[in-house]
Amino acid sequence: MERICLDKSSLKAVDDYWTYRRIVGEDDKGRLFTPEQYEEYKRKVLPQRMKNRLYVSFGVPGGIDCKLIGPETQCFCTHRYKQHKTDFEVVPPERPLNLPCQVRGCHCSTYHYAPQIGTNHVHCRCKHLPRDHSEVTGHSCRKCSCSGFHSPYICGCGQPSSAHQTLVETKLEREARGRPIGRDVPYAAMGGLTGFSSLLDGYLTLETSGSEQDREDDCQQRSSASTVIQTSTKAASSVRLS
Ligand SMILES: [Zn+2]
Ligand SMILES: [Zn+2]
Ligand SMILES: [Zn+2]
Ligand SMILES: [Zn+2]
Ligand SMILES: [Zn+2]
Repeated sequence: MERICLDKSSLKAVDDYWTYRRIVGEDDKGRLFTPEQYEEYKRKVLPQRMKNRLYVSFGVPGGIDCKLIGPETQCFCTHRYKQHKTDFEVVPPERPLNLPCQVRGCHCSTYHYAPQIGTNHVHCRCKHLPRDHSEVTGHSCRKCSCSGFHSPYICGCGQPSSAHQTLVETKLEREARGRPIGRDVPYAAMGGLTGFSSLLDGYLTLETSGSEQDREDDCQQRSSASTVIQTSTKAASSVRLS
Protein backbone atom coordinates (compact mmCIF):
# COMPACT_ATOMS: atom_id res chain seq x y z
CA MET A 1 0.00 0.00 0.00
CA GLU A 2 1.27 3.38 -0.95
CA ARG A 3 1.66 5.89 1.82
CA ILE A 4 2.01 9.62 1.75
CA CYS A 5 4.89 10.46 4.04
CA LEU A 6 5.13 13.89 5.54
CA ASP A 7 7.01 14.69 8.70
CA LYS A 8 5.37 16.67 11.47
CA SER A 9 6.67 20.07 10.43
CA SER A 10 5.64 19.76 6.81
CA LEU A 11 2.29 18.51 7.99
CA LYS A 12 1.89 21.61 10.09
CA ALA A 13 2.94 23.76 7.13
CA VAL A 14 0.17 22.23 5.04
CA ASP A 15 -2.36 22.78 7.79
CA ASP A 16 -1.18 26.37 8.21
CA TYR A 17 -1.58 26.86 4.50
CA TRP A 18 -5.15 25.51 4.58
CA THR A 19 -6.03 27.75 7.48
CA TYR A 20 -4.49 30.68 5.63
CA ARG A 21 -6.49 29.89 2.48
CA ARG A 22 -9.71 29.55 4.36
CA ILE A 23 -9.22 32.84 6.14
CA VAL A 24 -7.78 34.92 3.32
CA GLY A 25 -9.72 33.33 0.47
CA GLU A 26 -9.04 35.30 -2.67
CA ASP A 27 -8.17 38.50 -0.88
CA ASP A 28 -4.43 38.20 -1.46
CA LYS A 29 -5.09 38.34 -5.23
CA GLY A 30 -2.96 35.25 -5.72
CA ARG A 31 0.16 36.59 -3.95
CA LEU A 32 0.72 35.12 -0.50
CA PHE A 33 0.66 37.71 2.25
CA THR A 34 3.81 38.15 4.30
CA PRO A 35 3.39 37.08 7.95
CA GLU A 36 2.98 40.77 8.87
CA GLN A 37 0.34 41.36 6.19
CA TYR A 38 -1.45 38.20 7.29
CA GLU A 39 -1.57 39.37 10.93
CA GLU A 40 -2.74 42.80 9.83
CA TYR A 41 -5.40 41.23 7.61
CA LYS A 42 -6.73 39.06 10.45
CA ARG A 43 -6.72 41.98 12.86
CA LYS A 44 -8.76 44.10 10.47
CA VAL A 45 -11.04 41.59 8.76
CA LEU A 46 -11.91 38.90 11.30
CA PRO A 47 -13.91 41.00 13.78
CA GLN A 48 -15.93 42.48 10.93
CA ARG A 49 -16.41 39.06 9.32
CA MET A 50 -17.67 37.48 12.54
CA LYS A 51 -20.08 40.36 13.01
CA ASN A 52 -21.26 40.72 9.42
CA ARG A 53 -21.34 37.16 8.21
CA LEU A 54 -23.77 36.56 5.38
CA TYR A 55 -25.66 33.31 4.92
CA VAL A 56 -26.55 32.16 1.43
CA SER A 57 -29.11 29.54 0.59
CA PHE A 58 -31.28 28.50 -2.32
CA GLY A 59 -34.92 27.63 -1.85
CA VAL A 60 -38.56 28.53 -2.40
CA PRO A 61 -39.51 31.55 -0.27
CA GLY A 62 -41.22 30.26 2.86
CA GLY A 63 -39.95 26.72 2.25
CA ILE A 64 -36.90 24.76 3.23
CA ASP A 65 -33.31 25.59 2.24
CA CYS A 66 -32.87 23.24 -0.71
CA LYS A 67 -29.21 24.05 -1.08
CA LEU A 68 -26.72 25.73 1.21
CA ILE A 69 -24.09 27.66 -0.68
CA GLY A 70 -20.47 27.04 0.27
CA PRO A 71 -17.22 28.70 -0.82
CA GLU A 72 -16.81 26.42 -3.82
CA THR A 73 -20.42 26.44 -5.02
CA GLN A 74 -20.67 27.78 -8.56
CA CYS A 75 -22.67 30.84 -9.42
CA PHE A 76 -24.71 31.23 -12.58
CA CYS A 77 -21.73 33.21 -13.90
CA THR A 78 -19.63 30.00 -13.51
CA HIS A 79 -17.41 31.53 -10.84
CA ARG A 80 -17.44 30.24 -7.29
CA TYR A 81 -19.11 31.81 -4.30
CA LYS A 82 -15.71 32.69 -2.81
CA GLN A 83 -14.96 34.75 -5.94
CA HIS A 84 -17.84 37.10 -5.14
CA LYS A 85 -17.89 39.95 -2.66
CA THR A 86 -18.72 38.32 0.66
CA ASP A 87 -17.16 40.63 3.24
CA PHE A 88 -18.69 43.95 4.22
CA GLU A 89 -17.42 46.51 6.69
CA VAL A 90 -21.04 47.59 7.04
CA VAL A 91 -23.82 45.42 5.62
CA PRO A 92 -25.87 47.54 3.18
CA PRO A 93 -29.49 48.02 4.30
CA GLU A 94 -31.14 47.29 0.95
CA ARG A 95 -32.59 43.87 0.14
CA PRO A 96 -31.95 41.77 -1.80
CA LEU A 97 -28.32 42.08 -0.85
CA ASN A 98 -26.12 42.01 -3.93
CA LEU A 99 -22.85 40.08 -3.90
CA PRO A 100 -21.16 40.98 -7.19
CA CYS A 101 -18.58 38.73 -8.79
CA GLN A 102 -15.05 40.02 -8.39
CA VAL A 103 -13.47 38.18 -11.28
CA ARG A 104 -12.13 40.67 -13.79
CA GLY A 105 -14.31 40.94 -16.89
CA CYS A 106 -17.30 39.20 -15.31
CA HIS A 107 -20.45 41.31 -15.17
CA CYS A 108 -22.36 39.20 -12.67
CA SER A 109 -24.10 41.66 -10.37
CA THR A 110 -24.88 39.22 -7.57
CA TYR A 111 -24.31 35.61 -6.59
CA HIS A 112 -27.05 33.50 -8.12
CA TYR A 113 -27.17 29.73 -7.75
CA ALA A 114 -28.01 27.59 -10.77
CA PRO A 115 -29.11 24.08 -9.76
CA GLN A 116 -26.79 21.22 -10.46
CA ILE A 117 -27.37 17.51 -10.76
CA GLY A 118 -24.16 15.98 -9.52
CA THR A 119 -21.51 18.14 -11.15
CA ASN A 120 -23.66 19.14 -14.12
CA HIS A 121 -25.72 22.27 -14.31
CA VAL A 122 -29.34 21.88 -15.31
CA HIS A 123 -30.24 23.02 -18.82
CA CYS A 124 -32.43 25.93 -19.78
CA ARG A 125 -35.67 25.27 -21.68
CA CYS A 126 -33.63 26.37 -24.76
CA LYS A 127 -31.39 23.32 -24.09
CA HIS A 128 -28.35 25.47 -23.39
CA LEU A 129 -26.41 25.64 -20.16
CA PRO A 130 -26.13 28.53 -17.72
CA ARG A 131 -22.65 29.28 -19.09
CA ASP A 132 -24.17 29.80 -22.56
CA HIS A 133 -26.35 32.57 -21.15
CA SER A 134 -25.20 36.07 -20.31
CA GLU A 135 -24.18 36.57 -16.70
CA VAL A 136 -25.83 40.00 -16.83
CA THR A 137 -29.25 40.24 -15.16
CA GLY A 138 -31.83 38.93 -17.65
CA HIS A 139 -29.51 36.09 -18.69
CA SER A 140 -30.26 36.09 -22.43
CA CYS A 141 -28.78 33.16 -24.33
CA ARG A 142 -25.69 33.66 -26.47
CA LYS A 143 -26.41 30.60 -28.61
CA CYS A 144 -30.04 31.18 -29.53
CA SER A 145 -32.83 33.72 -29.20
CA CYS A 146 -33.85 32.54 -25.70
CA SER A 147 -34.63 35.65 -23.70
CA GLY A 148 -33.65 34.38 -20.29
CA PHE A 149 -32.55 31.31 -18.40
CA HIS A 150 -35.55 29.26 -17.35
CA SER A 151 -35.07 25.63 -16.41
CA PRO A 152 -37.85 23.02 -16.46
CA TYR A 153 -35.92 21.16 -13.73
CA ILE A 154 -37.96 20.10 -10.70
CA CYS A 155 -36.04 20.36 -7.45
CA GLY A 156 -36.02 17.59 -4.86
CA CYS A 157 -38.51 19.66 -2.84
CA GLY A 158 -41.09 19.16 -5.61
CA GLN A 159 -41.11 22.77 -6.81
CA PRO A 160 -39.76 23.90 -10.20
CA SER A 161 -36.32 25.45 -9.99
CA SER A 162 -37.77 28.71 -11.35
CA ALA A 163 -39.79 29.07 -8.12
CA HIS A 164 -36.56 29.16 -6.15
CA GLN A 165 -34.39 32.08 -5.26
CA THR A 166 -30.93 32.62 -3.92
CA LEU A 167 -31.26 34.24 -0.53
CA VAL A 168 -28.52 36.28 1.09
CA GLU A 169 -29.24 37.10 4.72
CA THR A 170 -27.58 38.35 7.86
CA LYS A 171 -27.29 36.33 11.04
CA LEU A 172 -30.24 38.16 12.58
CA GLU A 173 -32.39 37.60 9.52
CA ARG A 174 -31.51 33.92 9.43
CA GLU A 175 -32.20 33.54 13.13
CA ALA A 176 -35.56 35.22 12.65
CA ARG A 177 -36.41 32.54 10.09
CA GLY A 178 -35.51 29.90 12.64
CA ARG A 179 -32.61 28.51 10.63
CA PRO A 180 -29.30 27.32 12.08
CA ILE A 181 -26.56 29.93 12.17
CA GLY A 182 -23.74 27.70 13.38
CA ARG A 183 -20.90 29.07 15.41
CA ASP A 184 -18.73 32.02 14.50
CA VAL A 185 -15.86 31.05 12.24
CA PRO A 186 -13.02 33.18 10.85
CA TYR A 187 -13.16 31.65 7.40
CA ALA A 188 -13.99 33.55 4.23
CA ALA A 189 -17.07 32.98 2.09
CA MET A 190 -18.73 30.38 4.30
CA GLY A 191 -22.10 31.20 2.75
CA GLY A 192 -24.79 28.95 4.15
CA LEU A 193 -22.51 26.35 5.71
CA THR A 194 -23.21 26.10 9.41
CA GLY A 195 -22.78 22.55 10.64
CA PHE A 196 -19.62 20.75 9.68
CA SER A 197 -20.04 17.40 11.35
CA SER A 198 -23.65 16.98 10.34
CA LEU A 199 -22.64 17.15 6.70
CA LEU A 200 -19.63 14.93 6.93
CA ASP A 201 -18.92 11.31 6.38
CA GLY A 202 -17.20 9.23 9.02
CA TYR A 203 -13.51 9.73 8.42
CA LEU A 204 -13.90 13.39 7.58
CA THR A 205 -15.27 14.26 11.00
CA LEU A 206 -11.86 14.48 12.61
CA GLU A 207 -11.91 18.00 13.89
CA THR A 208 -8.43 18.22 15.30
CA SER A 209 -5.93 21.04 15.69
CA GLY A 210 -8.32 23.63 14.33
CA SER A 211 -8.21 22.15 10.89
CA GLU A 212 -11.84 21.72 10.18
CA GLN A 213 -13.24 20.08 7.16
CA ASP A 214 -16.39 20.90 5.37
CA ARG A 215 -18.37 19.26 2.71
CA GLU A 216 -19.83 21.67 0.29
CA ASP A 217 -21.21 19.62 -2.50
CA ASP A 218 -21.96 15.96 -2.76
CA CYS A 219 -18.87 15.44 -4.80
CA GLN A 220 -16.58 18.17 -3.60
CA GLN A 221 -14.58 17.20 -0.63
CA ARG A 222 -11.57 18.80 0.86
CA SER A 223 -9.35 17.62 3.56
CA SER A 224 -6.43 18.81 5.57
CA ALA A 225 -3.18 16.95 5.36
CA SER A 226 -3.65 15.44 8.80
CA THR A 227 -6.77 13.68 7.59
CA VAL A 228 -5.10 12.35 4.46
CA ILE A 229 -2.26 10.90 6.47
CA GLN A 230 -4.64 9.03 8.70
CA THR A 231 -6.52 7.41 5.91
CA SER A 232 -5.66 4.59 3.60
CA THR A 233 -4.87 5.37 -0.01
CA LYS A 234 -8.26 4.05 -0.94
CA ALA A 235 -9.96 6.66 1.19
CA ALA A 236 -7.39 9.29 0.31
CA SER A 237 -7.98 8.81 -3.38
CA SER A 238 -11.59 9.84 -2.92
CA VAL A 239 -10.49 13.11 -1.36
CA ARG A 240 -9.80 15.87 -3.79
CA LEU A 241 -6.96 18.14 -2.75
CA SER A 242 -7.33 21.31 -4.72
ZN1 LIG B 1 -18.44 35.81 -12.25
ZN1 LIG C 1 -21.61 35.31 -10.13
ZN1 LIG D 1 -32.01 29.70 -22.49
ZN1 LIG E 1 -30.19 29.04 -25.77
ZN1 LIG F 1 -36.21 23.04 -3.83
